Amino acid sequence: MASITIDDVTKRFGEGGNSVVAVDDISLEIKDGEFIVFVGPSGSGKSTLMRTVAGLETQTEGDIYIGDSLVNQLGPRARNIAMVFQNYALYPNMTVEENMSFGLKMSTDLSKSEIEEQVTSTAEMMGIDNLLHNTPGELSGGQQQRVALGRAIVRDPNVFLMDEPLSNLDAKLRTTMRTEINRLQNDLDVTTLYVTHDQTEAMTMGDRLVVLNYGELQQVGTPLECFYRPANQFVAGFIGSPSMNFFEGHLKGGTLRVNGFDFDLTDRMKSSVKDHKEIVLGIRPEDITLHNRSNAGYEFKAVVDVVEPMGSISYVYLRPQAQENDQTFVVEADGKHPITEGEHINVKIPEEDVHLFDATTGETIHQRELNSEAEVTLNEQT
Ligand code: ADP
Ligand code: MG
Repeated sequence: MASITIDDVTKRFGEGGNSVVAVDDISLEIKDGEFIVFVGPSGSGKSTLMRTVAGLETQTEGDIYIGDSLVNQLGPRARNIAMVFQNYALYPNMTVEENMSFGLKMSTDLSKSEIEEQVTSTAEMMGIDNLLHNTPGELSGGQQQRVALGRAIVRDPNVFLMDEPLSNLDAKLRTTMRTEINRLQNDLDVTTLYVTHDQTEAMTMGDRLVVLNYGELQQVGTPLECFYRPANQFVAGFIGSPSMNFFEGHLKGGTLRVNGFDFDLTDRMKSSVKDHKEIVLGIRPEDITLHNRSNAGYEFKAVVDVVEPMGSISYVYLRPQAQENDQTFVVEADGKHPITEGEHINVKIPEEDVHLFDATTGETIHQRELNSEAEVTLNEQT
């Protein structure tokens, strides 16, 4: 059991002109027992940051503490962490039982029977006790990943590190394992760092998300904070599926002119906008409404490009009628309501759901309204 402190950590690969800054001056405080998800696109530095915590990479600058101990000089084994990877990394010639007991034999002075007891009880917990005498080659992907998790758990580490552990599983199994890891982490209460590029996994698993892009920290917050209170346009676009729609425009006399429609800023928006002029309007697909009767108050007309029925909802891709290019935006519509391709439809963008970003820096300049700020912190379990 331990907290983790990452203090001004930078990791650079290579020297001079060819060097890559994989992790750019990141500081983070992770509480004991917390489930932290590093999330961001491929190449954003998630694995590198995790590997510096593990001691598998040495940071170029900065300090890492586990609990109160500075661990910069300690190798992976001395840090008492357990890692789970995408490719399971099980020993192919050992049985499940041998795979699970190997670490205990190497790094503890437990007796043979104590090891056996721990392996058996962990295997029961993971539902793999009937597989103890099989080798990895005889198991399905899901079973192998369960063994890899069991092998990590049985060592009773201070910290779990998991790097995209579910990426090799099919979609359905991934969902089941997601729930299972959530439950395990809750029960065991071991500080966990989990890497994923999948925002759904991040949203559903983390106590807090650490959103990364190009090695830089974008935001640290609960899933709902990142969703409803994104620090910048990158986080707004990355968290949530389908992504938030963005309309870039120029502000003139309180009206934002984007390609396809004019949007009048509210007084509250005007006061947050100050002297920003090039602005991106952000609105989530589920917040836009469609209406096929003309009706005052609707913002603009659009043409239906593609409809993707999902069952209870449909994703409707539209182009503003007055727009010159063929950029589309997406709306989550009621699945029971027939909408046909080529149809002209009225689109309403509720002003209370609109985010505004600076078009140059991406910083958030206006957040959507919520009935109560408490809504975004409900998920906090710390
Ligand atoms: P992620 O896990 O988010 O996909 P990584 O941490 O693997 O990203 O990589 C971050 C950046 O560092 C990438 O640009 C990657 O090419 C680079 N990088 C990672 N490991 C090495 C390495 N061993 N040598 C050189 N560059 C590396
Ligand atoms: Mg990675």
